[in-house]
Amino acid sequence: MSASELYTIGCWVMVGLAVATVVAVGLIVAPYGRHNRGGWGPQINAKLGWVLMEAPSIVVFAGVYLGGEHRAELAPLVMLALWQIHYVNRTIVYPLRTRSSGKTMPLFIAAMALVFNLGNAWLNAVWISALGDYTTAWLTTPAFIIGALLMVGGFALNVWSDHILINLRRPGETGYVMPDCGPHRLVAAPNYLGELIEWTGWAVMTWSFAGLAFALYTAANLVPRAVAHRRWYRERFADYPPERRAIIPYVL
Ligand code: NDP
Repeated sequence: MSASELYTIGCWVMVGLAVATVVAVGLIVAPYGRHNRGGWGPQINAKLGWVLMEAPSIVVFAGVYLGGEHRAELAPLVMLALWQIHYVNRTIVYPLRTRSSGKTMPLFIAAMALVFNLGNAWLNAVWISALGDYTTAWLTTPAFIIGALLMVGGFALNVWSDHILINLRRPGETGYVMPDCGPHRLVAAPNYLGELIEWTGWAVMTWSFAGLAFALYTAANLVPRAVAHRRWYRERFADYPPERRAIIPYVL
């Protein structure tokens, strides 16, 4: 089977996974973070889990990228840089900053995410450095410019929102506080909104099936979880503003 055929099949598998995920996580909230609970088998340290499960997005992506014939061209290099900035934050900076000492996550969740990230990294890297063909002129197209702006803006929202959440706790604390500043005044999960904008931007910027499939998967995974976060806040904080939406201000 050629890389091109494998790529197309892989993208369709990811679309299928997105459909399965939106159904599954709509019925059963993924058991990590505030939604962690017993009954999901062995647990591992939460920080270690994040590093292990996200690592393929740096390592596999870089390895596959370097094997592609377009690896030294400017447009793919810009895409590589944007991808790696996101994943160096997600894999190394974010877990190191979280105040979650002693917290765990199910090994099952980390393993599922690791397998997903292996496939997703391969699909996106093989497209931008081998199968796709972006000339330098692509950098001045509306798709690239709008996509890149969305990606950078989404990243900023994601990092800002996570920064606020992380600082709700003092060092050593592991409890939960009602967030009440910045983008958290509008929605329960602005970090997820930022993530969704980012990968929508990636899909537009790369104008690729892999980018579209990943953006769909991100929405399938994070929109139901944002709804679960909002429900969780409303159950625990009597003064939680009822007009605060889950992920899209004033809408959802
Ligand atoms: P959460 O918003 O649930 O948690 C983010 C961090 O803030 C955690 O350390 C959490 O602690 C802490 N925190 C959250 N709310 C509070 C609160 N009210 N009071 C005190 N501390 C709080 O995000 P996730 O853990 O689900 O995701 C982390 C990042 O990963 C996000 O940026 C998200 O966008 C991204 N992500 C991306 C996915 C994708 O499909 N592309 C999938 C999943 C996540 P604790 O862990 O103890 O709850």
